[in-house]
Amino acid sequence: MSKNVIEEVFGTKVFNDEVMQKKLPKDVYKSWKKTLENGEDLNSDIANVVAHAMKEWALENGATHYTHWFQPMTGVTAEKHDSFLSPASDSRPVLEFSGKELIKGEPDASSFPSGGLRATFEARGYTAWDCTSPAFLKDDAAGVVLCIPTAFCSYTGEALDKKTPLLRSMEAISKQGTRLVKHFGYDDVKRVLCSVGAEQEYFLVDRDKYLKRKDLIFAGRTLFGAMPPKGQDLEDHYFGVIKERIASFMKDLNTELWKLGILAKTQHNEVAPAQHELAPIFTTANIAADHNQMIMEMMKKVAIRHNMECLLHEKPFAGVNGSGKHDNWSLVTDTGINLLNPGKRPHENKLFLLVLSAIIKVVDENPILLRLSASNAGNDHRLGANEAPPAIISIFLGQQLEDIIEQILDEGKVSSSLQVDKLDTGVHVLPLIKRDATDRNRTSPFAFTGNKFEFRMLGSSMSVSDCNTVLNTIVANEFERICDELDKAEDVNAKIKEITVKNIEAHKRIIFNGDGYSEGWVEEAKRRGLPNIPSWVESIPYSITDESIALFEKQNVFTRGELESRAEIMYENYSKTINIEAKTMIDMASKQYIPAVIKYTRELASSINSVKEACPDADISVQTEILKRVSTLLAKSQVALKRLEEVNNESEAKVEGKERALFYRNVVFPAMDDLRNPIDELEMVVDKKDWPVPSYGDLIFEV
Ligand code: ADP
Ligand code: MG
Repeated sequence: MSKNVIEEVFGTKVFNDEVMQKKLPKDVYKSWKKTLENGEDLNSDIANVVAHAMKEWALENGATHYTHWFQPMTGVTAEKHDSFLSPASDSRPVLEFSGKELIKGEPDASSFPSGGLRATFEARGYTAWDCTSPAFLKDDAAGVVLCIPTAFCSYTGEALDKKTPLLRSMEAISKQGTRLVKHFGYDDVKRVLCSVGAEQEYFLVDRDKYLKRKDLIFAGRTLFGAMPPKGQDLEDHYFGVIKERIASFMKDLNTELWKLGILAKTQHNEVAPAQHELAPIFTTANIAADHNQMIMEMMKKVAIRHNMECLLHEKPFAGVNGSGKHDNWSLVTDTGINLLNPGKRPHENKLFLLVLSAIIKVVDENPILLRLSASNAGNDHRLGANEAPPAIISIFLGQQLEDIIEQILDEGKVSSSLQVDKLDTGVHVLPLIKRDATDRNRTSPFAFTGNKFEFRMLGSSMSVSDCNTVLNTIVANEFERICDELDKAEDVNAKIKEITVKNIEAHKRIIFNGDGYSEGWVEEAKRRGLPNIPSWVESIPYSITDESIALFEKQNVFTRGELESRAEIMYENYSKTINIEAKTMIDMASKQYIPAVIKYTRELASSINSVKEACPDADISVQTEILKRVSTLLAKSQVALKRLEEVNNESEAKVEGKERALFYRNVVFPAMDDLRNPIDELEMVVDKKDWPVPSYGDLIFEV
């Protein structure tokens, strides 16, 4: 029988456990496994043997180069390729790769953002092998390259990437989580792991059309564009039949991801036309973060093969849905207990209720840190903007847990769980279906979904590292506090109950099961004292308050210096992003839109003149009215263009960092809108054949 394609290709490009078992001497494999399981330091003898096996495997698969693959603070991945070639005495090439080269790399790192952590004259940066995430082969025009997932830090050990803090936060949660479960009798637990499943939304557009739009090329989103007569009004795209061209892209993408050992599972059309989603099966947080980067990279690559462009921007088109990334997060012991699994009788599950109460507490205490971890310039269009839900953090628990919480608050004890019942459709031939204990609430930013929390604020182009770093850290910190209390308690059970009740009582305001997109919620949240910070820039300062620094330092996740440098990088990134957008708008307006409109008015005017000449009595009111309207909008556009040029230049005089970023947010950004508005209006009036770029309709309805 022929093999299914998944079985055939899955993991073929990964140096995974199966390959290692085959390639490594038994004793080396065993001690390697032990190192992994216990999270111990890697012995250099073992590293050498592993490196040799890895090289052999890579060469067998056609690799010529290797690279330390890392995730600098740009949020995307970086790689520098070295060939396996070594100097040899005679003219025959020798291919080498040692344990040292596997474990440590030293890219010249002076051009990566460091926020002042590393002056350019001290350009040393090191990459260190993250041996918990498997090495893989990248196969493209550059040939086959062995990619070794690494963490990236400075000469003095400061994290210069997104992975190091994530790994540190995983250690923190493991340490405190293990302590916590011991109080519930799970003495065999050695580690608590954080699992993450990241759902990825994206847009696909035709590449020829994409290449005609400078805004898509330079900014990743459209900076101009009028809505076509049909948007997403009919909601007929969501879960709709997948078009052939898209389906063949998805098939190709899945195959590539499966080869890389990525558990690509679900695919469907999303709400907006041309928008789609892919979800893999969850895995350990750092691997999930690596995989999500690989997924985004592969989406872009495969799209080009199909003459399409994959847009990962949070808001590529105004007026239709933006793209997010849902971060599904839970904590699981190495013995397989999911701390967020309520079980059949949640009201009796004391561990679950304590963990739940701890999460309720820390989400209520740190909403802005969470909001910040999910923010970038692109996501400002999705959070708190015109067409977007507010940037308020709240928790959705669902009916069953809500009921338990009410019981806890009522009398301090719980006696029952609402039982899951059967769903009767009223049609006899259909099977009775078991109803889930929680209904879905699509509007909650932080929703309990059965055995995990789903953090839905994240922007589609972002790394999942930051938000999981924050989640792990705040929860680890709370676990530590709880364990300190339990360690001292005479009656541990009574203490557990007391803490659970106290946490819920003090922080129940964060729980909201209603419609998070409604206007009423903004008012209600205000009344509850929940913060609603409208933009990324305004939330950055909260990462470097004394409180936040103390929290991250206590859990060994960030030092003060690292946090301060990251804040600088965020300000800088915001300013640069808006600057690029403003410059692109200036370029498009002055070289494409305005000349096209001038040409159109000329044609219109000469047509008016010829009509008048040919027939002096003819009614030319329509043409005249259009000409007047177009001319007025043209003049408006020119004024707005000048203004945008002016303020964008002015920004350079502002002090780099916070001041400049705020100037971009408060002055440049609105000036961009003022230029966009008249040009979008013109698009609706000017003859389509004279419009210089593909329209929204061309881009999202004709893929
Ligand atoms: P939906 O969000 O549509 O309800 P699913 O329930 O299928 O979708 O889950 C979405 C994502 O959550 C998937 O990536 C899935 O693997 C992941 N997931 C499921 N269980 C867990 C868990 N315990 N921890 C982390 N992620 C999980
Ligand atoms: Mg989901």
